[in-house]
Amino acid sequence: MAPLMPALFFGHGNPMNALLRNPYTEAWAAMAADLPRPKAILCISAHWYIQDAAVTVSTAPRTIHDFGGFPRELYQVQYPAPGDPQLAQRVQKLLAPISVRLDDHWGIDHGTWSVLTHVYPQADIPVVQLSIDECRPASFHFEIGQRLASLREEGVLIMGSGNLVHNLHTYAWGRHIVEPFDWAVAFEKRARELLLAQEDQPLIDYENKLGREALLAVPTPDHYLPLLYVVGTRLPSDPISFPVEGVDGGSISMLAVKIGG
Ligand code: ZN
Repeated sequence: MAPLMPALFFGHGNPMNALLRNPYTEAWAAMAADLPRPKAILCISAHWYIQDAAVTVSTAPRTIHDFGGFPRELYQVQYPAPGDPQLAQRVQKLLAPISVRLDDHWGIDHGTWSVLTHVYPQADIPVVQLSIDECRPASFHFEIGQRLASLREEGVLIMGSGNLVHNLHTYAWGRHIVEPFDWAVAFEKRARELLLAQEDQPLIDYENKLGREALLAVPTPDHYLPLLYVVGTRLPSDPISFPVEGVDGGSISMLAVKIGG
């Protein structure tokens, strides 16, 4: 039997992290050493936030440069990991009767590759992406995580990629160091306490339960929801840890969350 695979949430932050070496990317690069080698990776990325549930089925998913205004070098990054159509079909089966469309158009977006390029630079582990259905409430995304949890027993690394705090209106683009906003710190602190206490409900109902800070930290759900998929895979016996910490540009939490040992 394969060892129980941890599940990981990454704060991916600025797409330039794909090319940079900084404390975040160095921590990502160090993480693979503490993981059993996955048979495949199933990634839920903030950047595939669409109006239905879909899973990538291509055997050779394309690298998608889904951003604007960055240096040419970033558009030249390729992450040529293979796909895994069997895993896509397995996801479809696990989530039935929810209908999940097999998609051969999307590929690997920067939420996924900007991180994986550091964690698994060889790009030799198959990658499948599952979309976030924007029409569904937060509880739905948590439940999907619960239904995918058994993949952890099959050697699949379930990965969410977003940012726990993600406010681009207040983000300091550029190189200067900025102190994190008090609401960003407060929201992250509260979320960490809830994660440590295994209190999932306030995290799911963050809009009502986590106060004014939630409005600023999570102005749109796309970068937050990948966390709920990962938390949904948690077993009561799973430890939780935070292998990457920090707030970038004042209002982007780079926190990574690891479920399992
Ligand atoms: Zn993003």
